Amino acid sequence: MSFLKGKRVLIVGVASKLSIAAGIAEAMHREGAELAFTYQNEKLKGRVEKFAEGWGSSAEMCFPCDVADDAQVEAVFTELGKKWDGLDCIVHSVGFAPGDQLSGDFTDATTRDGFRIAHDISSYSFIALAKAGREMMKGRNGSLLTLSYLGAERTMPNYNVMGLAKASLEASVRYLANSLGQDGIRVNGISAGPIKTLAASGIGNFRKMLAYNANRAPLGRNITQLEVGNVAAFMCSDLASGMTGEITYVDGGFNITAMGSLEEANA
Ligand code: NAD
Repeated sequence: MSFLKGKRVLIVGVASKLSIAAGIAEAMHREGAELAFTYQNEKLKGRVEKFAEGWGSSAEMCFPCDVADDAQVEAVFTELGKKWDGLDCIVHSVGFAPGDQLSGDFTDATTRDGFRIAHDISSYSFIALAKAGREMMKGRNGSLLTLSYLGAERTMPNYNVMGLAKASLEASVRYLANSLGQDGIRVNGISAGPIKTLAASGIGNFRKMLAYNANRAPLGRNITQLEVGNVAAFMCSDLASGMTGEITYVDGGFNITAMGSLEEANA
């Protein structure tokens, strides 16, 4: 199809081949996008560079970026600007909360510091990227995309303060969309169903969350990184040119259910 031919995309959040960002990179590469990447730290550098080559990019198009550091965020666009004269899309696939925040009773587990870190890394970083990338993206009908989870809207055991950070992230999708529309930049989010990744393994009893979702989702299964990637590719393409400020579910339909399957209800 190649509906991303001619688009230049920066992907933030590849850590392993299981990363949702890896599914997004695969789909976007398949659809003809030119890709650049960031890596969180030196430990991930070699791995991300190797993946980048597999997606038609190169080590030269991989830049260090700890999103907690504004100087590093700005440096990404300074360096990217030396390679590309403009940027069409930024994919923000980043989330973090300290491990002790992600299990047990919400009221007891949540601390001031845990709240601050979860919101800084998982929510503010999207605004930081938008701010730093704005100039390069102006007037190209491009888009920003982030990844959220249903825990933003409903309580989810053990997800705790990440749910609050995702609620903040989803609100920032709307505020950024309203702010950046004047520059021809769209801003959207995908609320993905649970997928086994490095970040997800930090959530208490994540395996049970996977099984619960698979049993109750209308599709009767969990979704894959590539299924998220396919929707991400569409949302960042000109096919979605009329869409901004939206959170789209890719979760096998889990979010629409209240009680799960008929079989379960009648068992
Ligand atoms: P992942 O561990 O593969 O990706 C998380 C990424 O965040 C990693 O690349 C990591 O390097 C990056 N990161 C964390 N702290 C950072 C920092 N300070 N600076 C720069 N990068 C940092 O896990 P994933 O599940 O692919 O997570 C990607 C996004 O998808 C997250 O926002 C996550 O909340 C969201 N999400 C995940 C699921 C799921 O079940 N896996 C479901 C819905 C939404």
